[in-house]
Amino acid sequence: MKIGAAIRRKIVYFAKQKTKKYSKVLVYHDIHDDIKYTNMSTSINQFTRHINIIRDMGFEIVKNITKPENQIQITFDDAFLGTYNNFFIIERLNVPITIFVITSYLNNVYPYINHEQLNILNKSSLVGIGSHTHSHRKLNILSQKNLLFELRKSKQMLEDLLSVKITDLCYPEGKFSKKVIKIATDLGYDKQFSLIPGRYDKKLFKNVQRRSLVQHADDKEFKNILMGGDNILEKWYMFKHYLS
Ligand SMILES: [Zn+2]
Repeated sequence: MKIGAAIRRKIVYFAKQKTKKYSKVLVYHDIHDDIKYTNMSTSINQFTRHINIIRDMGFEIVKNITKPENQIQITFDDAFLGTYNNFFIIERLNVPITIFVITSYLNNVYPYINHEQLNILNKSSLVGIGSHTHSHRKLNILSQKNLLFELRKSKQMLEDLLSVKITDLCYPEGKFSKKVIKIATDLGYDKQFSLIPGRYDKKLFKNVQRRSLVQHADDKEFKNILMGGDNILEKWYMFKHYLS
């Protein structure tokens, strides 16, 4: 683990707890059993423990948050193969998830989900699909032309493939800017998912959703994050991810 990540983890571990259960969005990257497709993956075991903790604490897991309190939305970035191969665990636990897809990887780029697999997942009522752009470039440093391409192309491809309206966008590496928000909003992305932690109802910018990274959280850290223990990292993430 990098030093920065270790320090952030300690901060969350000992952060003062809030008393209310505010709704929030969580980020994972993949789920694994024996085969791990990315270092960012969470084991089936750990993921199951997280889900049990969420429910034991009295939160409801939903596909889209509609209330300021007591709801959790679960998202998976990048559409790694493990999300497809281990989908049985999502079904067994009966948890709605949103998967953010990098559309240029759909054409059998290992180790990512392909067109066919995505179509299969899309048929499940538990799955929502969003764009993670066409080629996963950092949006806040792209030219206007490339930015438009990344956002338009992936939206179009997913809409053609899945016959659903795509209105969710997830920023690659969490990077965004005022210009990114504006252009994405103009293109119809009503929900844009960042990596800035915090409560669902406390918006930093219109259409921008906060999310908490939990993929490697142990039980205590996970409980603390659910109770807002990572809110304290907001400024650090803004500094790392946002260009004005
Ligand atoms: Zn990503």
